[in-house]
Amino acid sequence: MKSLLTFPKGGVHPPESKAQTQGLAIEVMPVPDELELILGQHIGAPCTPTVAKRDVVAEGDVVGEVKKGLGVPLHAPVAGKIKEIATSAHPMRVSAPSITLVVDKEAEPVHYQWMDWHHLSSADLLAKIYDAGIVGIGGAGFPTHVKLNPPANSPIDTLVLNGAECEPYITADHRQMLENPMEIVEGANIILKILGISECHIGIESNKPDAIREMSKAAQDASGADGSIKIQTLQVKYPQGSEKQLIQAITGRKVPAMALPSAVGVVVQNVTTAKAIYNAVVYSKPLCEKVVTIAGKGIARPANLQVKIGTKVADIVDYLGGLRPGLAKIIMGGPMMGFAVSSLDVPVTKTTSAVLFLTEDEIDTKPHSACIRCGWCLEACPMGLEPKEIGIYVEADRAEDTEQFGVFDCFECGSCAYVCPAKRPLVQFVRLAKMKAKRAQ
Ligand code: SF4
Ligand code: SF4
Repeated sequence: MKSLLTFPKGGVHPPESKAQTQGLAIEVMPVPDELELILGQHIGAPCTPTVAKRDVVAEGDVVGEVKKGLGVPLHAPVAGKIKEIATSAHPMRVSAPSITLVVDKEAEPVHYQWMDWHHLSSADLLAKIYDAGIVGIGGAGFPTHVKLNPPANSPIDTLVLNGAECEPYITADHRQMLENPMEIVEGANIILKILGISECHIGIESNKPDAIREMSKAAQDASGADGSIKIQTLQVKYPQGSEKQLIQAITGRKVPAMALPSAVGVVVQNVTTAKAIYNAVVYSKPLCEKVVTIAGKGIARPANLQVKIGTKVADIVDYLGGLRPGLAKIIMGGPMMGFAVSSLDVPVTKTTSAVLFLTEDEIDTKPHSACIRCGWCLEACPMGLEPKEIGIYVEADRAEDTEQFGVFDCFECGSCAYVCPAKRPLVQFVRLAKMKAKRAQ
């Protein structure tokens, strides 16, 4: 039997915990009374509001723009009236500038018109992707029009679509691949045209055989049995879906330390971003909604919910029947890379993939202790870094000296912390080390 593809170094096998939601079809949540649109939804500069208090906006209107530097516009997900431009709770920070939109429940939804995109040039396609405010919605939110326009000295020959969804609990991409395979594949074809290449691999972990089947069918329909879009079955191993690990698993190419995938001729996009690209190009539809997995024993009814960007967690909780006794922690994102939040006022952004409501028995609450130098974190690190040394240096107040252990190559996957028997907060140590080392540069 052919062995499944994976990356060679490190990785862990946390419990998958996907059974709660993997069989649940995507459900559209009714739009709540108010949306909270955070102005900084992507890597780069936050948007500047283009609207003022009391302005009336239509669905799809631009409400924020980046005046200078990296970024994309922000749109009104529905029609309504601007109540306030102030600050809101933020999934990763304490608060952030945002626009509060009071939803006009009487407004007719916009019907976006289909168009044939095949005659459009790369520049036209990139402009449509920018206009729709598309960012990498499976990851950190890098503006997609920039990622699809790599520098001329980094020729690209391969597109990799990430359908691994290796984080425990999250099943939103799985459902997208089952329910919208044609749109994802068409999105891949649009990206191939922009990059002027023909080779595309879609990596999916072997724990999603139904998605592998549906995506294979769609790829075959779109490009023929020997076509340019190939489905690659990946071993179930965390963090299979991180860019560098995915590239190595599928192409065998190793992205050098501190370099981008374009250094080895590859562009990576998430499968859901490919679907957003399809919507942007074929329907001129801005990125205004997101499929989010809502799971954990602390929520009355788990779901894969399609919500408007700006929907508050509190409204999701109400819609799903409330919280259950024993809730101990709320995480935006997965349990490995997500962020604990302390307020239900936090809104969904373009990069929110899940909201987890975890009870005491689903989390580890043991206090951390000193490093026992077991070396397990070194074995688990897919980047070959030395997380134990980073932690020791941070505790010794020498964070600015951690560059020698590769701190800037750490993408905060949490594999080291997961295996650490002393429960050391290694990812928090890394974040602190990066901050201090940057300041010292
Ligand atoms: S969080 Fe960083 S140091 Fe820890 S395993 Fe992941 S890449 Fe390595
Ligand atoms: S796994 Fe934890 S205890 Fe073991 S060496 Fe790494 S930091 Fe130290």
